[in-house]
Amino acid sequence: MSLKSIVVFIGPPGSGKGSVSRLCAQQLNWKQVSTGDLCRRHIQEKTSIGKEIDFAIKSGKLVSDRLITEMVCDWFKGHEENTPIILDGYPRTVEQASLLNEFLGSASQSLKITVVRFLVPDSAVVERLRMRYVCKNKDCQAVYSMRPGSSQAPQKPHVCDVCESELGRRQDDNIEAVYERLKVYHTHEESLLEFYKRMGQSIPEVDGDQPIEQVFAEIKQVMEGIVV
Ligand code: ADP
Repeated sequence: MSLKSIVVFIGPPGSGKGSVSRLCAQQLNWKQVSTGDLCRRHIQEKTSIGKEIDFAIKSGKLVSDRLITEMVCDWFKGHEENTPIILDGYPRTVEQASLLNEFLGSASQSLKITVVRFLVPDSAVVERLRMRYVCKNKDCQAVYSMRPGSSQAPQKPHVCDVCESELGRRQDDNIEAVYERLKVYHTHEESLLEFYKRMGQSIPEVDGDQPIEQVFAEIKQVMEGIVV
């Protein structure tokens, strides 16, 4: 495998991992893969995987480690990139992190893995997700905020700036599912960070509780020196 650099974003739901990943893709030409987007695409396309995971997603629970790893491995097979690849939302458990290492196998010797942790208080996450709208087009899935004054507001109400499709709410942005997602995140966060620390990762932290442009600026600083 000719991969050079993998960036793993670890952070609670709504911490800006997806938005920052998109900025890295647009402005730095990096590649991103969001396991949440892959899952939602399966559901929209009503594939057999989509039917299997629909309930877990709606209720804010994790999809099985095996299934989610298969999705990521399939994605990798079509993307032997020389630019950094951001894994947004994967791995989320120690089991996923070891499966990923297994998959990367001998490539991981020459591969640089950078793990970045996003910090955002739970109260800010709840408020953000309450105001979040997403593009309903499965090939777009752009994210917006209806918070007054937000730099992520759409230009026209309820219309995607990118593809002009209608905006809607995510099925798992209801309050019960948001609390469940936060609970699930906190259940795995520490052991996942420990796993990467044991691998010798230093794990820089960024303050995700600020406007997305500032988070992106911090990420760029953190990433300086990553050799592609
Ligand atoms: P969130 O910001 O809530 O984490 P995502 O779009 O990243 O949103 O993920 C949405 C849902 O997709 C998760 O709640 C989970 O059901 C499923 N999912 C995404 N990534 C993973 C993963 N690595 N392991 C298990 N389930 C996942």
